[in-house]
Amino acid sequence: MSKKVEEWTVLSMLEWATDFFEKKNIPDPRHSIEWLLAETLNVKRLDLYLKFDRPLSPQELDTLRPMVKRRAQHEPLQYIVGFTDFMNARILVNEQVLIPRIETEQLVEIILDEHQSQEDLTVLDIGTGSGCIPIALKMEQPGWDIYGIDISEKALNTARENAEQNDANVSFSKGNILAPESITVASPLDLIVSNPPYIPTEEKEILEPQVKDYEPTEALFFDDLEKMYRSIISFAGEKLTTNGHLYLEIHENYSQQILALFDGQKWSARIANDYDDKPRFIIAQKH
Ligand code: GLN
Repeated sequence: MSKKVEEWTVLSMLEWATDFFEKKNIPDPRHSIEWLLAETLNVKRLDLYLKFDRPLSPQELDTLRPMVKRRAQHEPLQYIVGFTDFMNARILVNEQVLIPRIETEQLVEIILDEHQSQEDLTVLDIGTGSGCIPIALKMEQPGWDIYGIDISEKALNTARENAEQNDANVSFSKGNILAPESITVASPLDLIVSNPPYIPTEEKEILEPQVKDYEPTEALFFDDLEKMYRSIISFAGEKLTTNGHLYLEIHENYSQQILALFDGQKWSARIANDYDDKPRFIIAQKH
């Protein structure tokens, strides 16, 4: 009788890869292998804990190995598995689009809370990326007429695919807020939302490799924040209806500076904090 070749199990893989990722300085090592293994076995992450002794087949190992290798090079988990969950939507992501963040879900929640009873708003998302914001809004408020613009044609392709996958009828088109005449969305609008690139390039070095080496530079970094937000505010001032709303995601270190860009004669604007208690949003209403 030949000796049985040692088999990989769920547990031995979790332990081995956690250690491997730790040595490579991968953030959240245990979480990373749980995610990749759950994806490979097509089970929920928590269910892995009911299957510790389950052996991994050669095919499963073939699927898993390249994913582990990619993660060991700091590639974000969401790009490896190809999607992330955002509110009720499943959002496909790739290196052309920023991975939706939890703060941005909170921004969507604030909007939904404040406009719950309004059934026919016209909404524009500036710098839509994967399309997560307008798609999540449309899924909760199917009566709203929702548009998304982005400067990146490749991001728009992903956004359109996401709208289709989630059965959310959102119109996406190309537009650059720094050249507002390029924006062809009809006005007046009731609500504008934007999570523009807001990290000054000098902060790049302090970011995790999984962010700075993989996510699209044009979705993350912008050196003249005042210029960016001033363009959005001036566009919103022109296109919003009286009493229309502007919702912005902002960098926590520049909240007062951005708030000061709002002319008190024309706007009521305030800062709102995120779940980490950092000043992360500006909520403004046009007079
Ligand atoms: N919140 C993102 C981050 O911290 C940045 C998003 C943005 O620039 N709009 O990585």
